[in-house]
Amino acid sequence: MHRTAASQSDHCRFAPPALHHDHQPKGSSRARPAHGPVASLWLYDLHVTADLPTTSRYPSSREATGIETSAMSAALDEARLALGHGDVPVGAVVLVGDEIVARRHNERELSRDPTAHAEVLALRDAAAAIGSWRLGDATLVVTLEPCAMCAGACISARLGRLVFGAPDTKAGACGSLYNLCADPRLNHEIALIGGVAADRSAEMVEGFFQALRRA
Ligand SMILES: [Zn+2]
Repeated sequence: MHRTAASQSDHCRFAPPALHHDHQPKGSSRARPAHGPVASLWLYDLHVTADLPTTSRYPSSREATGIETSAMSAALDEARLALGHGDVPVGAVVLVGDEIVARRHNERELSRDPTAHAEVLALRDAAAAIGSWRLGDATLVVTLEPCAMCAGACISARLGRLVFGAPDTKAGACGSLYNLCADPRLNHEIALIGGVAADRSAEMVEGFFQALRRA
């Protein structure tokens, strides 16, 4: 359906939704960790909400295809693997047509690499698999709303479509804090769907941070 000027305007009025859970340990006397898995608690400090950062400009999670919904299950399986090495459980897969050409999970702690987010790793693998950095025919399916770095990587890859799970109102750059996928000042826009299997993704991330606090 053709997007109207009114829907563009609605998009501009979009504001981050109200927070349902506050994960920040306010008043905590615990020292802020400098490194290691616990540092992720502070760096991500995820706020999860059932209200999705979708706008009239973009289709809702109900419009994800069956293939994309299945791909999200694969991405959630990838996210679980990140728990094995103390990384925040975020997983991503890249679809070209009906085929998954790349699947990765967050490895920032494992590789001590600040750029080793699941999305960046999956985009690199997908580019290697298809032999081109241009991923216009690809869909990135990721369990958590991408951050500014990852949204920027999607734009650099000229990604065709992005599907994400839970919104991240503290760091999300695809509708929560920013929407780099639809900024007319940039040279590429990406079709976007948010909120696919959002509860399952949010549950996993919340469980990760709760376990860290109990440790
Ligand atoms: Zn990221």
